[in-house]
Parts: sequence; C-alpha cells; structure tokens
Amino acid sequence: MRIDAITIFPDYFAPLQLSLLGKAQDGGLLSINVHDLRSQTSDTHHTVDDAPYGGGAGMVMLADVWGRAIDSVIEDGADLIILTPAGRRFNQELAQELSGARQLIFACGRYEGIDDRVRIHYSQDEYIARNIRVREVSIGDYVLGGGEVASMVMIEAITRLIPGVLGNPLSLAEESHNEEGYLEYPNFTRPQEWRGLEVPPILLSGNHGAIAAWRTSQAKERKESNGN
Ligand code: SAM
Repeated sequence: MRIDAITIFPDYFAPLQLSLLGKAQDGGLLSINVHDLRSQTSDTHHTVDDAPYGGGAGMVMLADVWGRAIDSVIEDGADLIILTPAGRRFNQELAQELSGARQLIFACGRYEGIDDRVRIHYSQDEYIARNIRVREVSIGDYVLGGGEVASMVMIEAITRLIPGVLGNPLSLAEESHNEEGYLEYPNFTRPQEWRGLEVPPILLSGNHGAIAAWRTSQAKERKESNGN
C-alpha cells in the first residue's frame, strides 16, 4: 500500500517510522510519504490560507495549493481522505475496507479546514473514471487542531490489518470491534498475585473449554457495562 499524507506540519508524522510501521516500510509492505503543503505555494510567504467568503472567524485553506499538492501524488485507484470533524465516523469496519486500498492520500486540514471545492473537484466524473474516491472522515465527535493526529490514528488502525504487518496475525482474530461488534475479554499475565489481586482461577485450570466460555461471558459483560 502507498500512503501519502499532505500537511503543513510534516514533523508530526515522525512516529510512523517506529515499531511495526517502521518495519513494514523497511520490508516493502508499505510506503508512507509525507508532503509539505507549503512546497506547493508560489509566493514568498508560502501562503496556504485566506479569509472565508461570506465572513466569519478563522481562515480557510486554499483550493489552488491543495489541488497542486494532490495532483502531484494522486494515482488511479486512490482513496483521497479529507479529514474533517464533519465527516463519516471512522471505525473498524472502515479501517478494514481501507486496508485493501492501493493508495491512501490523507489531506490534513488546519484552521477552519480546506476550501470545499477540493472535495467537489476530486469527486467529479473524470476521477470516478480513474477509480478515485473522495471520503470525508472524522475520527470522533470532537474538534482537533489539525488532521495530522487524526491521520495517524487512521494509518495505524488501517495498516495493522494489512497481511504481514503484525508479527502474529492471530492477534487480529479475537480482537475488539470485529464484525460482530465484539469487545475483547480481560487479559492477565505473571505474577499470579499482584498487590493482593489474584488472576481468575479459571485461567489456571488448563480447561480450555471452560476458559473459552469464561472469556465469552467476560466479553459480553464488558460490552454491556461499557454501553457499546
Ligand atoms: N471548522 C471546522 C469545523 O467546525 O468542522 C474545524 C476545523 S479543525 C479546527 C482543523 C482541522 O482539524 C480540520 O480541517 C481537520 O482536518 C482536523 N480535524 C479536527 N477535528 C477532527 C476530527 N474529529 N476528525 C478528523 N479531523 C479533524
């Protein structure tokens, strides 16, 4: 998978070189390319925003600069993701769907967001004919200062679903938020007693059927008590 993130703060993305994602890039499973939006400006101040038509607080990011930045990376079959708190809520189902993408482009807004003509332009027939799809995505019902952290949340959730990225693919099998809306059971490891708290005895029984049944009941209880 190819990932392109476009931002005015490329340094935000440094952590993507660490851990499993760093290894996946080294192993050629993934390429993550971060692009500085300001490199597409042509004025001496590297302007990326202007006041909104119709008045109102804040600044809006320029369609022209965004258009050049996106044109410089977009390939046939790409998913162009415009991060916005007004977008479709990101969840495990969408992560699963996007894990099969060829190219993901993350457009990280700042200020009041990106001129809406960027979304409209890349949604036109000529892009549909190239199998390019625009998606407005939110990572939750709150407002962040920019799309960088939201993109990283999405990148981490999506890329760990790509075969070969996780060291042990079985980790995905019994995980929270699967198709049935399951939440994982609580886990314990050594020592058997910690600060007066014992590991549930059933887990030490060696009875795999009983352990599986206990875990299922714990998962259900968790789901009910978390209101999910
Ligand atoms: N004026 C916008 C509104 O009220 O919908 C909020 C803009 S926000 C301050 C600046 C940028 O942060 C957005 O353009 C978007 O890229 C990003 N952002 C903020 N909250 C987000 C969220 N919940 N999910 C995804 N991106 C978010």
